[in-house]
Amino acid sequence: MPHKPNRLALTALAFLSLTGAGAAALPPVPPTYVCQQAGSAITIDGRADEPAWQAAMPLSPLRDIEGAAVEAGTTVRMLWDADYLYILADMKEPHLWATLAEHDSVIYHDPDFEVFIDPDGDGRDYIELEVNALNTVWELFLTAPYRSANHALHDWNIPGLKSAVQLRGTLNNPGDTDEGWSVEMAIPWSSITGHSNQPRRAQAPPAGTVMRMNFSRVNWQVQADSAAPCGYRKCTGPDGTHLPESNHVWAPTGIINIHYPEFWGYVKLSANPSGSGYESMSLPATEPAQRQLFAYYNAQLAHRAQHGRFSPELQQAGVTPLFVNEQHFLARSTTAHTGQQLTIDSNGHLSVSAATTERPPLYLWVQGGKHEGDTAWWQQHFKRLAGAGIHAVIIGGNVQQLSHLTPIARAEGLQVYAWLWALNRPQDATALQHPDFYAVNRRGKSCHAPADRPFVEYYQFLCPNSEGALKHLLQEVDRVAAIPGLTGIQLDYLRLPDVILPRGLWDKYGLDMSQELPEYDYCYCERCRADFRTIYGRDIAPAADTDAEWREFRLASVARVANALCRRIRSHNLRAACAVFPTPQLAAQLVRQDWSRFELDLALPMVYHSFYNENSAWAAECSRQAAEQTTQRLPLAPGMHLPDSTADSLPAELNNMSRTSPAGIGLFCDDNLTPDMLEALQQWTK
Ligand SMILES: [Zn+2]
Repeated sequence: MPHKPNRLALTALAFLSLTGAGAAALPPVPPTYVCQQAGSAITIDGRADEPAWQAAMPLSPLRDIEGAAVEAGTTVRMLWDADYLYILADMKEPHLWATLAEHDSVIYHDPDFEVFIDPDGDGRDYIELEVNALNTVWELFLTAPYRSANHALHDWNIPGLKSAVQLRGTLNNPGDTDEGWSVEMAIPWSSITGHSNQPRRAQAPPAGTVMRMNFSRVNWQVQADSAAPCGYRKCTGPDGTHLPESNHVWAPTGIINIHYPEFWGYVKLSANPSGSGYESMSLPATEPAQRQLFAYYNAQLAHRAQHGRFSPELQQAGVTPLFVNEQHFLARSTTAHTGQQLTIDSNGHLSVSAATTERPPLYLWVQGGKHEGDTAWWQQHFKRLAGAGIHAVIIGGNVQQLSHLTPIARAEGLQVYAWLWALNRPQDATALQHPDFYAVNRRGKSCHAPADRPFVEYYQFLCPNSEGALKHLLQEVDRVAAIPGLTGIQLDYLRLPDVILPRGLWDKYGLDMSQELPEYDYCYCERCRADFRTIYGRDIAPAADTDAEWREFRLASVARVANALCRRIRSHNLRAACAVFPTPQLAAQLVRQDWSRFELDLALPMVYHSFYNENSAWAAECSRQAAEQTTQRLPLAPGMHLPDSTADSLPAELNNMSRTSPAGIGLFCDDNLTPDMLEALQQWTK
């Protein structure tokens, strides 16, 4: 059952009627199935005559999609080997009929059998496969469920798919009573795992892999009709429309919509051959917390469908909303036994922290401009990083470089964030054509003019109140977001120039920055002054550096740009991350960046202690303060400046950083990682 537009409103209302203003009802605990190995060749002929099929355990009985028990009539079994995932469904049916003979027709208009596979269980990038009694197949690939920004790829096909049906009775003949039909299929692993968010893999995943799956059998109430080509017509209600079809599924979603992959069943691939006895599997430790989060997420979507916005009042047992505004939210739940923190955002992105006994995931900044086009070098590089326990790379580079490097990194199992400079745009040819895009200091000098830039030539900051500049940045986000395979975009320089430099850098620039100097104090452009006048009804005070409202105006301006960019990133189904100064308070003081106001999925505070003439204990203290100043609502991955570390010092520093149970640790950057340090990282992440 794919997209049924007339059902969308119903979907939202169904959740509302369950939830009212309060907690959402949870669908049943998902069923599980351990899929054993075929052991010997399987012939795809629609028959279960191989010994492996004879011995294969059936899945638990199908139920109505809303959860009610239904009359038994469908038996599903599964097997697997190195090349294929095998499915065999046997269906009792007194009236065999089918009309659709053309590949990729909308098969559920006939009675059908449907398969859904989310190989890595992340609720996106999943496969739908429908077949009718004529063995006509429709394959679909969905980048995300229909409820969120999604692409259903209708022209997507499964090369090498084998399927066959066996009829026990006569098709399209209302004059007799039939027994039923069976469908057997072999789905090549290359099409299943090759399109998931997991690293691309041509062969079967290893034994022990767990996938999310569902099966659905669609049936229509029909009556004999000699005028109809197939001999049957669908029964209609008093208003002349077809009576709704029945949807019998393996894992009920609780509403008449199967596109809730978070509620599907769990299938584990066993190393044992079919017939080696019943195997059970326990649900993952994260399952209850995950289900609560998705129930909250769905209830929020239902609320938005009815009221046009998300609700801060909505409650769900076990779920802590971290922030909720009209357009976005982030919520958290914690597992009972492993202490893992799960968060979900308004796009349905679920992220799971490591168990408390495990190491936080490592994010590494990677300079993507080197070894351009040298695929072999990058393969080797990413392989070494992944081997050292790096979880995600934040790659800097242009769109061409990122497009080249992203699939290489993904193939080594790394998540990829694109590293995008926001308000500081060195050598941005488009922006440079617009002098009015640029920030201006208290002396009236613009960052547009090379001779007037503060500190360094590459400080080419844009004005946070220029609509043209913002539009340009949003287009940059769109350009980068189009690179396939990204997990997110990491914004950098979401701030104004350093009105006060970190203490450790004063000598480098020969400056005493114990107070705000006009040369480094931005943005005093005409537009910003005018906007301030409109809001506060007065000009900036003559002592601008002590004008509290003027300070607030600029903090709000930078936050406004940050949130516009974050929203745009999320609209592409990507995670919004940002490199920020050590704490929101310090960041506001030094660079007008109060990032406690940013709607981020991940904040990477650059607690680079040497910049501040401090030690690594200070870095840990910053992380604690940052968590406090953001009222624990933002996932934090504090960043380390690797040039300040050695292979010997690294483990203790990482332990220090782990003390506040961060969502991750950032490492800057790959060029500073010596072989000794990689070795130390590998030891530590073990
Ligand atoms: Zn300005």
